[in-house]
Amino acid sequence: MSGGEQQYIKEAFDTNWIAPLGPNVDAFEREAENYLGVKGAVAVSSGTAAIHLALALLEIKRGDIVFCSSLTFVASANPILYLGAKPVFIDSEPETWNMSPRALEKALIDSATAGILPKAVIVVNLYGQSAKMDEIQALCNAYQIPIIEDAAESLGAQYRNQHSGTFGEFGIFSFNGNKIITTSGGGMLVSNNAHAIKKARFLAAQAKDQAPFYQHSQLGYNYRLSNILAGIGRAQLPLLEDRVHRRRKIFQTYFEHINKYEGITFMPEPSEMLSTRWLTVMTIDEQKLGVTSQFLLNSLNKENIEARPVWKPLHLQPLFKDCSYYAHSEEESISDILFTNGICLPSGSNLTNEEQETVIECIRKAIEVTGVSDQGVTLYG
Ligand SMILES: *Cc1c(COP(=O)(O)O)cnc(C)c1O
Repeated sequence: MSGGEQQYIKEAFDTNWIAPLGPNVDAFEREAENYLGVKGAVAVSSGTAAIHLALALLEIKRGDIVFCSSLTFVASANPILYLGAKPVFIDSEPETWNMSPRALEKALIDSATAGILPKAVIVVNLYGQSAKMDEIQALCNAYQIPIIEDAAESLGAQYRNQHSGTFGEFGIFSFNGNKIITTSGGGMLVSNNAHAIKKARFLAAQAKDQAPFYQHSQLGYNYRLSNILAGIGRAQLPLLEDRVHRRRKIFQTYFEHINKYEGITFMPEPSEMLSTRWLTVMTIDEQKLGVTSQFLLNSLNKENIEARPVWKPLHLQPLFKDCSYYAHSEEESISDILFTNGICLPSGSNLTNEEQETVIECIRKAIEVTGVSDQGVTLYG
């Protein structure tokens, strides 16, 4: 928090607007629209709720097929199951770690041949970076399939000078506590389709008909954002640019100190992208480095440094064991490789330089002191 949040919270209390609607909610939506350059934004209770609403607006029903990136947090795909639809998972490609256009094309061709095209494609923008939207949009347009962009991790990022999350029919953002800006919990659904945005507001507020009594013709949800939390969001949004700078600086410092080791590769950033580096993520080639990613993770955790593996791909999750999966190529599943070898380093905007030095020193020791010879003894220690 910056401190500025309390003024908005105080205003909400002083005016007694303690409800899932009110002036902060309206203002937060307008401010998000202005920042992103979209026609409409609906503030909701979570990013997951925003995905659920987007799918409901596209009238996804039981038995429908929805494509979704495999390398992501489970929340990207859970709403597909809420609606009784079937996810088909699409691999990543190596340049952005996001949805592979090649795998997507193969899945679309197979679906067209079988006569069961997906009703939507959920494209996830991981770790602060956009997917290759040009190629993905060209494919989806050819089959007239709407895109939902899960930009929960990429608020503040750009692709060809346009904000990540504004390319699809719908974009969704999250303000969960771990995201680059937060309302503690919250989300936003955005679109340039004014009609859909109006309907989203209706569905998110229990779908109450215009009638002199409580009448409902459609299934709705209780998904609006609290006026108090929207106040926090209003104070957070102006901090976003600074946070992007800070996270990119944290990445730069890690890169300068660690990239020299053969066997360490950082998540790439293609020239047409601006990544926020929401998290600094790297992969380990254990043959070259002499230590495994698991060993590095253990070394950091032993020093009380919270580093984590990359998301476990959804096609490997027990929850989705019956779902189809399209890999980047016949020889390689990129998301499997990234999961096995990836490490997310501490990257919070409030990470101090001293703390980051401690992290770097711990990695240096694990690599240089432990080396190849000790590995057999200490592995998984
Ligand atoms: C955080 C996150 C979500 C879910 O957002 P919530 O606000 O926590 O519901 C969805 N997708 C991705 C990729 C996320 O990282």
